[in-house]
Parts: sequence; structure tokens; C-alpha cells
Amino acid sequence: MIMRAGQALGLLLAMVGAATASAAEFRSVRYWDASDHTRVVFDISAPIQYKLFVLESPHRVVLDIPAASAASLGVPNSTGVVRGVRTGRQGKNLRLVLDLERAVQPKTFLLAPAGEHGHRLVVDLFEQESRPAVVKTEAQLRPSGERKVIVAIDAGHGGEDPGALGAAGSREKDITLAVAKSLAAEINAHAGMSAVLIRDGDFFIPLEKRYALAREAKADLFVSIHADAFTNKAARGSSVFVLSQRGASSEAARMLARQENQADLVGGVSLGDKDSMLAAVLLDLSQGATMGASEVVASNVLRGLARIGNLHKRELQRANFVVLRSPDVPSILVETAFISNPAEEKRLNDPGHRAKLASAVTEGIREYFSSAPPQGTWFAANPQRPSHHVVARGESLSAIAQRHGCSVTALRETNKLQSDNVWAGAVLKLPPRQG
Ligand SMILES: [Zn+2]
Repeated sequence: MIMRAGQALGLLLAMVGAATASAAEFRSVRYWDASDHTRVVFDISAPIQYKLFVLESPHRVVLDIPAASAASLGVPNSTGVVRGVRTGRQGKNLRLVLDLERAVQPKTFLLAPAGEHGHRLVVDLFEQESRPAVVKTEAQLRPSGERKVIVAIDAGHGGEDPGALGAAGSREKDITLAVAKSLAAEINAHAGMSAVLIRDGDFFIPLEKRYALAREAKADLFVSIHADAFTNKAARGSSVFVLSQRGASSEAARMLARQENQADLVGGVSLGDKDSMLAAVLLDLSQGATMGASEVVASNVLRGLARIGNLHKRELQRANFVVLRSPDVPSILVETAFISNPAEEKRLNDPGHRAKLASAVTEGIREYFSSAPPQGTWFAANPQRPSHHVVARGESLSAIAQRHGCSVTALRETNKLQSDNVWAGAVLKLPPRQG
């Protein structure tokens, strides 16, 4: 898996030059019906460039592909929203026409060879009303003043991207979905919080698209769920990551980032849509404030996980995960455990253990929103002072007292402090609230 990442990158670079150099052939077409979209997959002999447009009466999606040819694609049975596929020439271009039942919103991307599959062009035809995979939340419907905070939960991998494989054959994509569903249920069971699943079934979503969906859902927080894998089967425990812009905190973290980003190298090339251009622009914006918030929530989640079991890394980890690049939504990635460790793989398959994980992560999330409630939310209207405070680097006792609405004296007495000097990382007990 780690090896293949480099290869995929090579293929991407080749793609740029290949578009004009060699003629791609469209060899076959496959369909897949999802609840909210129809997926059409073309098997192609080489990477391509293409233009996509949508026509009405009758509804069609048209793709023009320079220097390409089509084998007889076979007459497909109509499926989902697709009535049929036609090919023809338009000048020097191959023209592909998808005849449709009704208007759709197309999303397209290329997939590099993986497993038994070669190069593919994927055309997802989304029903216009529904948003892809995002479950509607009650939060958006509530009158203003006391909305719930929205937590977007991203089950890592999915569909053609199985993620890591467990010692006994569990697939990471199945584990992450099960954990994500359990986490969503736990979050929804708490006052003031509402969960949105970025992926609620076994399908592939490009990494950039995942945080775009969270932003569309107006998420206050993005949590990506994964399960780690390592060649050493003894590796165990949870880790929590935030985005690093300046390199990962360790070589292992760098390797993991390559592994987790592999889906993006394979499938994240989006030529027909504006998404990737928008994403590139967004990446240039300052992520400073968001990254600070991400660190706070990640530390809280790490503490929550420490309560239920072993941590792989006690410190917050930093890596350049594409999925964490949202410029304005605090984002964390949780490697729940090592799927490559037989004991942990077994636990990940146990609904009881997944519920424990969900509860630990939720506790961390709840503490974060309590300590920094977004304006207009239930948390802002129902302040719950935490019982403890972890001293940040450079934080003074008076700043801590001010933040928690207590006096320096009370803080000093509660913690039996001899002076006002506090060390970063120290855990202070907060005095009981007055009146
Ligand atoms: Zn993963």
C-alpha cells in the first residue's frame, strides 16, 4: 500500500503528458446504482482529458474527449437515471453521450489502475435535490439562537478503496464505517450536538470532496475515522492527527500520510468540475485559526481515548492528510487502533468496543465545544464549565482564571499552588463555580 503511493504519483505525472501523446480507447462501461446517484464507470486504455457539459430536452450528459476512440461499448441495459450510452465523433474528439431519465448533477474523476482494474473514468450522476451522502440534520431546521453544533464524521476509505487490511482479513473501509455510525449515534444522543455522516455506505469519495461535503453541511468540526496498519503486527493503540503544513512529526507519520492520501493520488483528479481548482485556492488561505482549534479538539479527543485504553502516541500527531485541509472547519483524524494487530482487529469488530471508542471520542468533542462554544449554539447558551484545565504553553495563571471566570486566588487555593508559575501541560483543577 505504501509502495503503491509512489507509483500512483508517477502515473499522475504521466497523465499530463499522455493526454496528447497517445490515443485512449474506451473499452467497456459498467454501472452501479447508489441511493442518491448512479455511477457510470468507463474502462479506458490510458488517462484522458475531457470536457463535460449538460444538455436539456432531452436530458443528456456529454463528454468530449480529444484523440480518443471507443470500442463497441455494448448496449447497456438502462439503469438508475441512465437510459443508454452513445458514442460518435465531434471533429477530432470522441463524443460520449449519456441519455438520461431526468436532470442530474454530474461529478467526474479519473481513477488510476488499482487491483484488477486499469484506468477508469468515473461519472457520478447525482439526483439534483439530494446532497451526496450527507444526512440532513435537524440542526439546520432549528430556530436561531440555540442551534446544535454539527459534527461531520468521515468514515475513511470506501468503495474501490478498501484501506488497510487486517490480520484476519477485515477491511479498514468496513471498520471505519461501523465506527463512524456508532460515533454518530453517540453524538446524536448528547444535548447540543448533531452528527452528519460524510459516507453512509460502501462507496468511494475523493478526499477533497470529503471536506467539501463537511463545509456544505456547515459542520463545526470534521472527524475522519481510520484504522492504522503497520508491518509489525505488535504495533497497537490509538493516535490523533491534525494537519501539518510543514511536514509530518515523524517518518512514520509521513508514511501514514502517504498511505491515507493514496486514495487521492489514485482517484482525486477531477477535471470536469471546478472542485479541485477551488480547493487549490482554498489551500492558499490562512488556516491558522482553524489549525489552533483543531489542536485543542484533538488534545481533548486524545485524552478521551487515553481513558479507555492504550495510546499508540501520547502526543498529538501532525501529518499532511489531504482530508484535513478544510480552511475553516477544525479537522482531526483518529487512527482508532491497528487493524494489523490481531487483538485490536478483533476489538474493532466488536460493537461493544466500538461503542466505547465512540463514547471516548464524543467526550473529547463535548469538552472542546464546552470550552470554546461557537456563537449561537446550544453550548454557548448552556455554559458547562469543565472541571479541569490543561495549561497551554505560555499561558499564565491569570489568563486561565479569566478564561474560566474564577479568581487567581481560588485557582491557587484549589490546586495548592505555592506561586503563580504554572507549567505547560500541567492539569489544574478548576474551583467550583460561585453563585
Ligand atoms: Zn485509513
